[in-house]
Amino acid sequence: MFKDYPLIKESKKTVTQFYPHIPKNHIRALKKVFSTRWIGQGPLVDKLEIIFSKKFTNNLPSVAVGSGTDALHLAYILSGIKKGDEVICPLFTCTATNIPLLYIGAKIKFADVDPKTMNIDIESVKKLVTKKTKAIVFVNYGGLPCNLDELNKIAKKRKIKLIQDAAQSLGATYKKQPITKFSDFTIFSFQAIKQITSGDGGMLVLKDKKNLKKARRIRWFGIDRLAKQGGTWENDIKEIGYKYQMTDMGASLLLESIKEFKNIWKHRRKIFNVYKNNLKNNKRIYIVDEDGNFEHSNWLFTIILKEKDYLQKKLRKFGVETNQVHFRNDRYSIFKKFVKNKTFKNMNNIENHYLVLPIHTKMKIVDAVRISKLINKVIN
Ligand SMILES: *Cc1c(COP(=O)(O)O)cnc(C)c1O
Repeated sequence: MFKDYPLIKESKKTVTQFYPHIPKNHIRALKKVFSTRWIGQGPLVDKLEIIFSKKFTNNLPSVAVGSGTDALHLAYILSGIKKGDEVICPLFTCTATNIPLLYIGAKIKFADVDPKTMNIDIESVKKLVTKKTKAIVFVNYGGLPCNLDELNKIAKKRKIKLIQDAAQSLGATYKKQPITKFSDFTIFSFQAIKQITSGDGGMLVLKDKKNLKKARRIRWFGIDRLAKQGGTWENDIKEIGYKYQMTDMGASLLLESIKEFKNIWKHRRKIFNVYKNNLKNNKRIYIVDEDGNFEHSNWLFTIILKEKDYLQKKLRKFGVETNQVHFRNDRYSIFKKFVKNKTFKNMNNIENHYLVLPIHTKMKIVDAVRISKLINKVIN
């Protein structure tokens, strides 16, 4: 069912699907780190958390971690999710969203996809809510925020925790406000192909400051690091923690990338708009787009079309790499036990028809123009 599309060779004539963004001053930034005693988690991680909160969360507290997946695991623990608890999750997402729930042994209730936005389908979520629902996890697919008002309405009624996987939506806004305002926990990823990167890294954002101390402790074995640096034995470990910290090496790259974020955003937005403006009159193509209230972060540009396979192959021939990026999670054996006798109508309809076009800072605006023209030529 899924065709095999190996990665293309890089050359001047090809456009890859993704490319990491390396900040201009990366060497200088790393050199500085290597001239100090802190290369693991040190003062730059603290600095990054403060700057990140100022810039992206309206000062909600941020906790830097080793990956987006780490942040998700910590968010699930802090939400109080325990073995056997019901958690409503998106069927269509990066598997990293759902895998940490398997660490805990939670009972995953998959919600169908909304074929217009590729986000979690609100009606499907409503049907899955029971007295036992502990949390709702949702992902802003490609960078497009979910209907955060609706999700809050559902959660409020039954005191359900909301966990927002914003791994792809750094810089997205909802009704002109930072998306972090609308969930108990929000996570970001700085994995290699995300808007900004530390190689691997992540951020956990907390709506309630009360969780901050525990979040920091379980990021680091369960140890209160500051107290421990006091050098006494009075620092018992009372809860199991992990080794989920970020390093100062990674933080130094992110601090540089944040300085460039406006330009990164603008470049990605330009590419996004070139695709949009060139493809919007093509009646055979549906564009997954923002509206006035849900502002996209331009991480993925996704189209839905009948002839997905045909287009993907044609673009390959012209050196353009496109992919589906994520697949429905019920295809994976590890999730099979949660989907017995279940059907997901919307997902069934679109699973072979969505395709993601390249966006990254390495490609040029003219590349996007060329790709759009190619698409209009092939699909008309
Ligand atoms: C990238 C990504 C993650 C995982 O982040 P890592 O930093 O790779 O652990 C989780 N969810 C979504 C939606 C992602 O795109």
